[in-house]
Amino acid sequence: MSIPTSLLLKNGTLILHGEGDCIKFLKEDLLIVGNKIVDIKPNIEIPESNTVVLDCTGKLVSPGFIDTHHHVWQTQFKGRHTNDTLLTYLPKGNWTGSLCTSEDVFWGQLGGCLESIDGGTTMLVDHANITQGPHHAPNAITATVSSGIRSIFGYCDTPNVTSWTPLTFAPGTPEYFDSQLADLAKQQPFGDGRVQLGLSFDSFHLPKETVIECYERARSLGVKLITSHYVRGPVVGPQSRVELLDTYGLLGPDILLSHASNATPNDAVLLAKANAHVSVTPDTELQMAHGFPVSFRDDLHPLCSLGVDCHTTNSGDILTQMRLALQCARGAYNQPFVDAGKNPNTVKHTVEAAYNLGTIKGARAVGMESQIGSIAVGKLADLVIFDGESPAMICAAAHDPVAAIVMHASVRDVDTVIVDGKIRKREGKLLAVSGLKGEELQWKDVAKKLLRSRIRIEAEYNKIDMRSAASRMIDLWHMRPENFVDSMAD
Ligand SMILES: [Zn+2]
Repeated sequence: MSIPTSLLLKNGTLILHGEGDCIKFLKEDLLIVGNKIVDIKPNIEIPESNTVVLDCTGKLVSPGFIDTHHHVWQTQFKGRHTNDTLLTYLPKGNWTGSLCTSEDVFWGQLGGCLESIDGGTTMLVDHANITQGPHHAPNAITATVSSGIRSIFGYCDTPNVTSWTPLTFAPGTPEYFDSQLADLAKQQPFGDGRVQLGLSFDSFHLPKETVIECYERARSLGVKLITSHYVRGPVVGPQSRVELLDTYGLLGPDILLSHASNATPNDAVLLAKANAHVSVTPDTELQMAHGFPVSFRDDLHPLCSLGVDCHTTNSGDILTQMRLALQCARGAYNQPFVDAGKNPNTVKHTVEAAYNLGTIKGARAVGMESQIGSIAVGKLADLVIFDGESPAMICAAAHDPVAAIVMHASVRDVDTVIVDGKIRKREGKLLAVSGLKGEELQWKDVAKKLLRSRIRIEAEYNKIDMRSAASRMIDLWHMRPENFVDSMAD
């Protein structure tokens, strides 16, 4: 059987972005040839070439969602951090990467990517803090390619635990780090151009010259973007990472900061001037006391996009983050009225604004606005098709497709996902991917591998005194112990 070269989406409701990100709806056909959208008009004839026709009657066709901050490898740890603070999460979540073999990483990464695709994400920025050994990052990249998702793989200098009692990290950077970064930069992009290389950088404790050298080297190697966590507050301190980057002369359009919680007004000015961007991850920020999500803060909103952060803590889809970002911002806006015994006459933030955070603004954050984030002729074919006639979407999809997606949809309503012109989920089911040896795998095969890997990791995990590791973190990161309290009265 010959491989289909084109896809024709018949009779769907297309969600398009116009001037100023205004959204409009169009009931027309959409033709994909190769990896690109080549035509949008009524009644497109089925081309003579090998074409798959998808009947989209009753369906909504949306640009795929863009997740701009995600630690994708962590799948085996799902469910573990739902009651964690940042301090307890770090040893239990981040540093337990040291317990993973490179094969565990392959399965964790594949599981994370597939959860994302299942939820309609077609592109993600992977803060890949899993370079615990020389084969970990290559295996994570192989899994990303296999899943079919589009990604910027943020290669990361990850602290490696050498002892859990007391918690001790290997000093410095692993000996293979620099050469592997250079090799990966030379080899990229991977997966027919879908997976590009980025750098995840959080080592701001290093001397100024070293930080500058790292950025300059990464840029000279051609990494796509440099992403860092930034949470001003009692855990990491009140200093501004944005001002630091500005002082070092490093701010630019390839800078993507996750969270930007409690960012200063000057931070917003500097980021806007540099055309740098922010990834807001409402679920983890609200849980882990980072500070209130900034996605709708007036000065930062134009620079913001959304991320999942930890699919170990919350679900891996952007639908949830859009809704959470919107409703918590509405709640914060409304409360002062209520406190003053009044009622606001209007809702301050709109579903369209939330939808844009998960689509076109994500594309801007990764410097790919001309290629992804909206539906247009000439753009890459990264699309998510919703069942507009499901129990959750019925009538809502007919009334307002964007409202239906932001406020009514769940992963269950994601019918089909297309990345780079290829179908990766169809009629609600993920399609097969390939394993480490090129073998074909259905989702249930991946699930079996993940459960086996989880059992192995858990046996190691259960030997660790996590409470002692968490308190040691306070010393290692020079945090102020008096800032960690059980109640406001403390
Ligand atoms: Zn993170």
